[in-house]
Amino acid sequence: MVVVMNERATEAQIDAVIQRLIELGMDVHRSSGVTRTVLGVVGAHKIDPELIGILDGVHEVLRITEPYKRASRTFRPEDTIVTIDDVRIGGDEVIVMAGPCSAETEEQVHATAAAVKRAGAKILRGGAFKPRSSPYAFQGLGEQGLKMLRNAADAQNLKVISEVMDISQIELIAKYCDIFQVGARNMQNFTLLRELGHARKPVLLKRGISATIEEWLLSAEYILAGGNMNVMLCERGIRTFESYTRNTLDISAIPVVQKLSHLPVIVDPSHGTGRRDKVAPMARAAVAAGADGLIIEVHCDPDHAQSDGAQSMFPAQFERLMAELRIIAPAIGRSICVETTARRGWGR
Ligand code: PEP
Ligand code: MN
Repeated sequence: MVVVMNERATEAQIDAVIQRLIELGMDVHRSSGVTRTVLGVVGAHKIDPELIGILDGVHEVLRITEPYKRASRTFRPEDTIVTIDDVRIGGDEVIVMAGPCSAETEEQVHATAAAVKRAGAKILRGGAFKPRSSPYAFQGLGEQGLKMLRNAADAQNLKVISEVMDISQIELIAKYCDIFQVGARNMQNFTLLRELGHARKPVLLKRGISATIEEWLLSAEYILAGGNMNVMLCERGIRTFESYTRNTLDISAIPVVQKLSHLPVIVDPSHGTGRRDKVAPMARAAVAAGADGLIIEVHCDPDHAQSDGAQSMFPAQFERLMAELRIIAPAIGRSICVETTARRGWGR
């Protein structure tokens, strides 16, 4: 860390700060300019910058290393690639996860799975345990919903991602799904994160609605510290003063996180905007900005969806978007799965 002293700091104050740092086991390198003294501080262990910031004569304490370790590029310079059988997330191919907000009926899940598969998605999304603002809103079908997702995904050769809200659901969700989704509201549920650190399946960690990038990476650190290195970060919009869109999708988080961390970055333009007409432009922007993947809500009858209908795309809109993404991705050296002709099971 670097300690910047006040312009008027006295010699006695500077000496006292240096003494305190030495007592804490740090090496201090003093550099006195014309107006200020700056102390370069290095040491084997971390000290709380606040402890130094409150000392007399200190103007500012600047941290120069990140508070997270395993999530940082310094710890692992090369990109992490999360592999689920033949699906590789974080490599050259941009991976698209798509499906309904919630699993509702057998037919809805199967029809949506067939449609998103046809358009080139690799992973079926769908909630069975739903974090709703109102306790009276649809809460998800639980295990029945997980079964629907698994069956539909298997029929289409897709992987499955579904949200885990609580430690008690981990075992059940692991039985049916390939990826755990941690929702925005649970980004700082540290007990859940710790437990997922011991899970043997990848985790998609959504950014909390008012979380800084540093807080988000620290949350990822909880999972990584438990030994689960298969973590993906999902930007899904943050709460700002703007109320036109449901959230404000922070596209700049993509290059920022990719610089700070080796973990794949996935973007959710559905929750990021809350409106289906805004999903395609933001999905295109996310791919152009370098996102490693997208997670998008698609519903065959969104006007009658049990949750998030307004932001769910019609299958035809999604198919068009995928075709556009196939044009954008090569411009930045990436690719997107080509459409499949496989029409099995419930396909239209
Ligand atoms: C969802 O994916 O349906 C969801 C609830 O997302 P978020 O946690 O980002 O609100
Ligand atoms: Mn949703």
